[in-house]
Amino acid sequence: MTSPFSFSARHIGPTSDDARRMLESVGYSSLDELMDAAIPEAIRWHEQLSLPAAATEAEVLAELRDLASRNQVLTSMIGLGYYGTHTPGVIKRNVLENPAWYTAYTPYQPEISQGRLEALLNFQTVVTDLTGLETANASMLDEATAAAEAMTLARRSSKSKSNVYAVDGDTLPQSVDVIRTRAEPLGIEVRVVDIERELDFEYFGLHVQYPGASGAVRDHAALIQAAHAQGALVTVAADLLALVLLREPGAIGADIACGSAQRFGVPMGFGGPHAGYLAVRAGLERSLPGRLVGVSRDADGNRAYRLALQTREQHIRREKATSNICTAQVLLAVMASMYAVYHGPNGLRAIARHAHDSATLLAAGLRDGGVELATGRFFDTVTAVVPGRAAEVVTAAAENGVNLWAFDADRVGIACDETTTAADIAAVWAAFGVSGVDSVETGTFAFARTSDFLTHPVFRTHHSETAMLRYLRRLSDLDYALDRGMIPLGSCTMKLNATTEMEAVTWPEFANVHPFAPAAQTAGYAELIGSLEDWLAELTGYDAVSVQPNAGSQGELAGLLAIRAYHRSRGDLDRDVCLIPSSAHGTNAASAVMAGMRVVVVACDENGNVDLVDLDRKLAEHAERLAAIMVTYPSTHGVYETSIAELCAKVHDAGGQVYVDGANLNALVGFAKPGKFGADVSHLNLHKTFCIPHGGGGPGVGPVAVRSHLAAYLPGRGEEAVKAISAAPHGSAGILPIPWAYVRMMGPDGLASATAHAVLAANYVAAKLRDHYPVLYTGNKGLVAHECILDLRPLTKATGVSVDDVAKRLIDYGFHAPTMSFPVAGTLMVEPTESEDLGELDRFVDAMVAIRREIDAVAEGAWPKDDNPLVNAPHTAAMVSGDEWTHAYPRSVAAYPGGMDPVGKYWAPVRRIDGAYGDRNLVCSCPPPEAFA
Ligand SMILES: *Cc1c(COP(=O)(O)O)cnc(C)c1O
Repeated sequence: MTSPFSFSARHIGPTSDDARRMLESVGYSSLDELMDAAIPEAIRWHEQLSLPAAATEAEVLAELRDLASRNQVLTSMIGLGYYGTHTPGVIKRNVLENPAWYTAYTPYQPEISQGRLEALLNFQTVVTDLTGLETANASMLDEATAAAEAMTLARRSSKSKSNVYAVDGDTLPQSVDVIRTRAEPLGIEVRVVDIERELDFEYFGLHVQYPGASGAVRDHAALIQAAHAQGALVTVAADLLALVLLREPGAIGADIACGSAQRFGVPMGFGGPHAGYLAVRAGLERSLPGRLVGVSRDADGNRAYRLALQTREQHIRREKATSNICTAQVLLAVMASMYAVYHGPNGLRAIARHAHDSATLLAAGLRDGGVELATGRFFDTVTAVVPGRAAEVVTAAAENGVNLWAFDADRVGIACDETTTAADIAAVWAAFGVSGVDSVETGTFAFARTSDFLTHPVFRTHHSETAMLRYLRRLSDLDYALDRGMIPLGSCTMKLNATTEMEAVTWPEFANVHPFAPAAQTAGYAELIGSLEDWLAELTGYDAVSVQPNAGSQGELAGLLAIRAYHRSRGDLDRDVCLIPSSAHGTNAASAVMAGMRVVVVACDENGNVDLVDLDRKLAEHAERLAAIMVTYPSTHGVYETSIAELCAKVHDAGGQVYVDGANLNALVGFAKPGKFGADVSHLNLHKTFCIPHGGGGPGVGPVAVRSHLAAYLPGRGEEAVKAISAAPHGSAGILPIPWAYVRMMGPDGLASATAHAVLAANYVAAKLRDHYPVLYTGNKGLVAHECILDLRPLTKATGVSVDDVAKRLIDYGFHAPTMSFPVAGTLMVEPTESEDLGELDRFVDAMVAIRREIDAVAEGAWPKDDNPLVNAPHTAAMVSGDEWTHAYPRSVAAYPGGMDPVGKYWAPVRRIDGAYGDRNLVCSCPPPEAFA
């Protein structure tokens, strides 16, 4: 009997009896024996992990309460891209705290993702309507990375020969930092200037902030014209709420708009996660980075959503991709879109008006008291000039419960928002020593928007809480997430996201803290982040960790930039070759290019391992220029390669650094440490191994971990390091309580046990399915690591039934498909994780075996190749209950295959989606209802 207090027994699916049965199928008598056989001794870590012993769920909640109590929540009027906002309760509980939304995966299987795809299409519509541009993507990681992506988009699209990127001096400082980080390795020169006076040079792109960081609203129309005259593209970094009242970027000629949707109901969270956005004018959509939702149709010709133009993305284009972004901020984009759906255009106008009127009143009181203001025209933020007194004013305001921002010794920024009250304004006046005014004429708004927005019915329908609740329920019911069943996606580690891990995320002491709040107010966060970074260093064998990167892709870039800086510090200016095995994740190659490196592909041998002969050849060929190798361990083939230590040694001998992509750490935790078996740097994916939910495609956290010789180059940590890889100092800090709670509740033994059970589950599935589908690659003793690749290519060749058909047929059986055609085309990669119990594993195995029988029936000619349950999958309720049925197999086979229980069946809402049709007829915002009449 396991203790009712042990969290690991809740996290790990199989009971000890189940595990015994599974071990029997795999041919081992204990987990220890299995792990000894699976993991090469050369990398094995046999010592105890130095982590605190497991605590119960109740104890961990108490510890988190204590940490939370050490954060002080003041009213934030700091602004600079982060604002107070009221998260509507109906959205907080039914999206942010609802596993139907937060445990979903990226909508690569669109037939089972129509709910979140519709929500994302709403998000894109909010962004395109408010910015006045043609096409917006489904979220970026934050405003600063969106601004940096806008720069490279401008570089790709501008005809100008210049390598200069001009940046408005009134830009958010964190955006300038990330723009500089991204520009340097690409040879782009960034000039931050007073755009009204100093823009007298040639540039390929111009970035303006609208309104400026100071709060100033300026008319950029003439500047944009001048920029276009010299062939440059212009990015307007615009505040979405301001755009409710202000003339939109599209109306003044902007090519690109970027920014953040944080203040649309997403808590500040000490810097994240929030949805950044990026939008472009017509003609640039094919250069837009990130995921893009588009409208297409299904096999019956019905409207259906799916990801559009995927050929731009890293998983297909690799080193030629527009960007390395993979995980984005879907959950937060959904929240922001729902905020717009709930408030509608009139609600948003009232909210924007409130922020503006508050600032107007505040400014009038300051002026009345003789305080000079640096901002003429403003939306919600003013800058006060108080020579030599800025620090004193900020301190006095904090004593009154309000945080302000000192730009320097003389200037104080004050930002109003949706939450600003009369008491807040009075507190600010008091801090400046003025008595304020009772009221002020608000009058007309200068530089006002004249066009309408959010005219689509979806933004005018769900304004009562009942209607909103039902809309959210309707959409989430269309989708398949972990709350319905297993999502066995190789490389993505879709494990339990425990409720206790999630709870602290929405506590105000974690949720309502501005990332630039004074350190004295954020001691709880500092301790939480410090201990988490220490634990991750212990688990990986590295010396230093930064949690700043807000996705795996950003951790990769941070790690590669550290390698680059290290070589440069030693005078090795020419080391720019990054070796990457052919099986690597697409982000690897895309990140290497962004770090200014040249990608050289290393072949894999017939066993799926890095081909050491080809490696030797490439090392010899590029010896002088070798910067790094980037390998995934265990490999993306799901195998513990025995030669990893030898590979590391060879690369080091050649003067290169070893980057181990740690996204597959779920196969290593407690059993092997990359920092000890030869690697110099890794990123981890806390949204995989450490239980942050995938959120339908984000948020994520991608910490970068390094050995001591690279520690000085972690983002923000040293003179020679990049200042920032993400907008906020600790990235998506608001969700760090999740991995913290996971490590704390599992303890060292629980974490190692999770790894062993993950390896057991993968080997169990491999053993059960091997006779039906060949397992493509195995390592020691015929074992796989934490995932296994099922090879469908021979079956496809013989029968025409494709991986796609099997993936879609799994929907009929009540499953999310495994990873399709990565890393090998024509295969399925299964990663069951430790959290699935034996019953669910067997249900999956049974479904796969039943599907194999269906494939055989096609092979035998029992069903025609073009009319069978595989090619027609998924089957919708409308299809099987139609008055006519002309197919070669009965309705029951279509609907309830394998004798499945009809009660509680998940029905796909649409039939197979035609992706190519949508790409040919690109529509990426809410189409008018009559379009589907
Ligand atoms: C998931 C993954 C990544 C990318 O991580 P993101 O957080 O999506 O950017 C990189 N490498 C591997 C092997 C992965 O599985």
